[in-house]
Amino acid sequence: MLVFAKIKSVQDKLNSLKKGITVGFVPTMGALHKGHLSLIEKAKRENDLVIASIFVNPTQFDKNEDLVNYPKTIDQDLTFLKSIFCDIVFTPTAEEIYENNITSQPFLFDGLEFEMEGKFRTGHFDGVGTIVKRLFEVVKPHSAYFGEKDFQQLQIIRKMVEKHHLPVKIVGCPIYREEDGLAMSSRNTRLSPEHRAAAPFIYKTLKEVKIKFGTKSAAEVCEWVNKKFENHSLLKLEYFEIADENNLKSISIKNAQSKYRAFIAVFAEKIRLIDNISL
Ligand code: AMP
Repeated sequence: MLVFAKIKSVQDKLNSLKKGITVGFVPTMGALHKGHLSLIEKAKRENDLVIASIFVNPTQFDKNEDLVNYPKTIDQDLTFLKSIFCDIVFTPTAEEIYENNITSQPFLFDGLEFEMEGKFRTGHFDGVGTIVKRLFEVVKPHSAYFGEKDFQQLQIIRKMVEKHHLPVKIVGCPIYREEDGLAMSSRNTRLSPEHRAAAPFIYKTLKEVKIKFGTKSAAEVCEWVNKKFENHSLLKLEYFEIADENNLKSISIKNAQSKYRAFIAVFAEKIRLIDNISL
């Protein structure tokens, strides 16, 4: 496994590859877990060569406290990546990526950016668009892999690729969960034992939502979820929405042609957890 921190070194390596080799790319912010590894394994199956990046992108954090506290486990990450035969890892510094200007570029994602996470994390998707576009310019992958865990981000990246005519195929990957159903996340390690024990309630609720949505309206299901969290002593609901998968707009009336998904964000003390389920 080769590890490069400089844009020029990684590009020199990629340019030296035989013509016709397919490159799969998995961008991450490190603190890797089995969810990340599932993306890399899928990319390995579908490409001749896989490159992962580890970069905690400062421009997508709206709170400096979150950026400072973001877990950094680079040695363990590299050991994980080596164990699953990742070919190349790109680990740039912020200066290497942004030079002297650590700011994000403004993007228009046809309104996707104003829904859900966009309402609660100002500037987040401009930061995501900026870094993903930059990394695509550096790596020039044939395919790039993103988790459905961050479903809104996945749709936003698809929109960016479409609007900017970027020559890359975006592949969505299923949410990888702990045995008790909690969606794997780098933030889970920051939960207190008490909150960690409570957190599977989130996915349990989503599974019940899926059943209820068969017979009840979106408004009724939303009301039911809100009530469940009102009575919860450890988990605080930030939002719950049932939305159309394509435009991410909250729905009022179901229609047979559309695909729907339920989205949730919850605070366990200061730790913000998100999850979603296809309905
Ligand atoms: P992050 O390091 O949190 O930016 O995540 C890097 C990539 O891994 C993103 O595309 C995430 O959606 C994806 N990812 C994170 N957690 C999971 C998970 N539990 N299952 C599937 N994909 C995930």
